[in-house]
Amino acid sequence: MDAYDQLVQLSNLIGQDVSLVQPGGGNTSLKQDEVDFLGRPTRALVVKGSGTDLRTITRAGFTHLDHDRLLALAQFEDLTDEAMTAACRQAMLFPDRDPAPSVETLLHAILPARVVAHTHDIATMSLTDTRFPERFVQAVYGDDVAIVDYVRPGFPLARQIACLPLGPRVQGLILVKHGLVAWGDTPEACYASLLNLIARAEVFLTPRPLLGVVPKPDLSALLPAIRGELCRRERVVLHVDDDPAIVAKISDPRFVELAARGVATPEHILRAGKMPAIVRTVADVAALPTGPVPDAVKIVAIPGGALVGAAYNSASARTAVISYRTVLETMENAEGIDQFAFLTDEQALEMETWPLERRKIEARIRRPFEGRVVVVVGAGSGIGLATAMAFQRAGAHVVAADLMPPALGDLPHAVDVRDEASVATLIEETVRAFGGLDVLFYTPGATPHLHGVEEMPLTEVVRQLEVHYIGAVAVTRLAAQVMIRQGIGGRLIYNASKAAFAPGRQAAAYGASKAALAHYARNVANELGQHKITANYVNADMIDTPLFRRLIAERAAGDGVSEAQVIERYRARSVTGDVLIPPQAVAEAVLWLATDAAAFTTGCVLTVGGGAEAFPR
Ligand code: ZN
Repeated sequence: MDAYDQLVQLSNLIGQDVSLVQPGGGNTSLKQDEVDFLGRPTRALVVKGSGTDLRTITRAGFTHLDHDRLLALAQFEDLTDEAMTAACRQAMLFPDRDPAPSVETLLHAILPARVVAHTHDIATMSLTDTRFPERFVQAVYGDDVAIVDYVRPGFPLARQIACLPLGPRVQGLILVKHGLVAWGDTPEACYASLLNLIARAEVFLTPRPLLGVVPKPDLSALLPAIRGELCRRERVVLHVDDDPAIVAKISDPRFVELAARGVATPEHILRAGKMPAIVRTVADVAALPTGPVPDAVKIVAIPGGALVGAAYNSASARTAVISYRTVLETMENAEGIDQFAFLTDEQALEMETWPLERRKIEARIRRPFEGRVVVVVGAGSGIGLATAMAFQRAGAHVVAADLMPPALGDLPHAVDVRDEASVATLIEETVRAFGGLDVLFYTPGATPHLHGVEEMPLTEVVRQLEVHYIGAVAVTRLAAQVMIRQGIGGRLIYNASKAAFAPGRQAAAYGASKAALAHYARNVANELGQHKITANYVNADMIDTPLFRRLIAERAAGDGVSEAQVIERYRARSVTGDVLIPPQAVAEAVLWLATDAAAFTTGCVLTVGGGAEAFPR
């Protein structure tokens, strides 16, 4: 294992410990001799690439730069972001291969040590997120570390470090209200020094716990209201943390005032917002603050209820929560030795709007259903499966539900639409997982058993009605409640199938249940339009699904013909001559009905496949 592999290992070790760095934060580097793309020997700085994560970084996540060219930059008194970024790019040894270098690249270049690690650790943040950082750093470390007053990360911070006299005794840098920099000759030595410095701070700290008890508010009402309000600025999903230990901290009477003082390190502003919003009732939701950036509110604390993260996807919402849990611990520690104190408003605003940090969250591939929550009932096979997969590819968070939980989506879920309690659990868990829902696609299917009118058993009628109609009413009722609480509209889409419009021989029970569903969708469209919730249905015919294949087999057996002959009969009534149409075609239609472009289309049927007999009229 070479030093580079050891650097990767060191990075992963640091990244996996949230008390050292929170997702996306911190950085590491190594200086070593390399050759550039022309084969010329070069002293290289190998540093974490921007947008990578120490938890999962591999060799490919690091950028290789010409160390001498970086050192020359440190001679400048001031450099704009543009100049620094361009100069770092020019110093890259493999500009076509490597990721853009970290905004802290110069900090790593300036320090002479071979291996350098920078953390946003709770221990040293607790010493400096106070009113008297120097006093506490001195008490813990004496002259074994150098203290760096707060300046904005990037060039100003690197410049400040370049001007420091670093004696041979100095083992690390304490960055005030930011974190720690440790180093060593090898990754192993760097890690040992890092842990030693942190242990020394931990011994010094005596936390003053936050602890409170307030009645539990109704989260099922609050979460959709919060999500809806935040979505007016930018589509978000929520991550809900109701760990009792965390809920107790945000329920402490002191929390409101402490929260207003800020977070623990500048990167938390990017990940968790400048300060959390506190919501106790639905009335508080309307007063959620706005800021200079659209995602200003990334943490909502609900005393007695939950700590909630909000972001354009679930992983980022979770990162917000992880970061804020770190803030809570830092607060308790800082209050134990002094008073918790963070940046000034001007400093925090500078970070909140700093383009080089913003690019970390903005430079992403935006997908059409990013930040949207889609529930697909009947996602186990056929049309439901194809549609759930299409929504997922389009960036939605998908709750895929069926009798057996399908192996896809962010939240595979077992549901029996004939059981009201089972349906209630599905919607509750969707809200608990993402804060609400935007789209419901209802497509569970019960294969028809063919009987003539004079023999149709009522059990078959009931079986069909339960799955196609009554289940739809049960799911819609609860989904609509969530959508109305969100107040940002919604999309209800049903698979009515061709049978709703054209009677199939011996399929009266199936057809009537689908006709009931289609008519129900029209009622839904009428009543919920005032909430900007649309309801539409798909006339899907001759789609290649397991249900349609079973129907073909049953017709063939009943009529004493081959399955191929039945298929040819279907082909004869298709105006385009297509039969066994891929379910992806239906998925595309459903996705369109779920877009913003379909906002003015409601109470409508969209036909996919089908012959002239099934043109709805
Ligand atoms: Zn940092």
